[in-house]
Amino acid sequence: MTTPVYYSCASSYDEAPLCKALRAVLEPVFKEYGSLEGKKILVKPNLLFSRRQDDPAAVHPAVIEALCRELLDAGAESVTLLENPGTQHVKAILKIMGLEEKLEKMGVAYDDFADYGEIKLPDQCRFRQLKIAREFENFDLVVDLAKAKTHAMMTLTLAVKNLFGLIDSADRLSWHLAVGSDFCRFADLLLDLYLTVKPGISIIDGIVGMEGNGPGSGTPTTSGFLAASTDALALDASVAALLGVPESAFILLRQAAQRHLPFTYENRGDIPEVAPFKLPDPPGMLNAWGVWLPPVFKKLLRNLAGSRPFLIPSGCISCGRCVQVCPPQSLKLKKVKGRDLPVFDLDNCIRCYCCQEHCPRGTIEVRPQILNKLLSSLVKLFRR
Ligand code: SF4
Ligand code: SF4
Repeated sequence: MTTPVYYSCASSYDEAPLCKALRAVLEPVFKEYGSLEGKKILVKPNLLFSRRQDDPAAVHPAVIEALCRELLDAGAESVTLLENPGTQHVKAILKIMGLEEKLEKMGVAYDDFADYGEIKLPDQCRFRQLKIAREFENFDLVVDLAKAKTHAMMTLTLAVKNLFGLIDSADRLSWHLAVGSDFCRFADLLLDLYLTVKPGISIIDGIVGMEGNGPGSGTPTTSGFLAASTDALALDASVAALLGVPESAFILLRQAAQRHLPFTYENRGDIPEVAPFKLPDPPGMLNAWGVWLPPVFKKLLRNLAGSRPFLIPSGCISCGRCVQVCPPQSLKLKKVKGRDLPVFDLDNCIRCYCCQEHCPRGTIEVRPQILNKLLSSLVKLFRR
């Protein structure tokens, strides 16, 4: 089965071009999905955190506002925005984004996910149990609103990875710990979430995306597109190809193929020309080769040729957020030259890069180790 993925181009988040571009992708998707009349709709945006109004780590506020309006105009009975950003509350992030009042005026409710519990998983799932935010079951339709970003561990974070927000923050740490060092298992977890939550409409904000060492502290890049589909996995496959990331370098798709989950797509609409994303330093190589190795070699490869989190002390404000989110507690705040700074226990570090993702100052970087740099140079040399 081939799923259409719709594209439109917009060079900025200015209201008129943005609304035109959003309508261009939503109209055909609404038609495919069916009537929204009288539906209770849950919007799950990627908020991660917000350091300023248009933080490239999160979906742009103008897209969230325009989407809610489109859903209401299409006849939705109610639109509710729920997310679990990890270290900030939704209300606080919406305030920074300047969205709080605008959503309230439109009658859009918002909150943190709160009702975590175990639910029955579809037969296709590989995990037997998942404790997730059960609120999604109270809605007729889940709309998955993601950002086009690189991800130091998973190469890209798009619509399917956005569903990881339905896992409780406390559990996210243990999931990272349990499956975070095994990228295939982590991809399986994301795919199980996709099969369970089944977003009926998925949208990716790629007007300004994030390349390099995302998802928290990468480099903003203007790619100028919006994309939407009724299938989150097909959407991810299409957008990954658009961003120059082959299936072989995107573990989520490799794992989906291995599980015979379909993601064949057909691009439609105004398809943009996008410069390939600069990928995160570390796992390009590790992702490409490491996943087939037995765990002991994976660990060796990770320690010698992978990458590591690296603190730039001058930017650190000693907030301790990185310590709070580190799944195996490989980070501790210690006195260094009179300041409280996070210190890494790299032997214990599983390279999940949660610390980098959640640092509000972008002061933790992902840096390749010497062997990684050497091998990357060799690969480039042989490619010429
Ligand atoms: S130090 Fe950072 S990369 Fe390492 S395990 Fe902790 S959060 Fe993950
Ligand atoms: S590295 Fe970032 S998250 Fe960690 S203490 Fe410093 S500013 Fe806070």
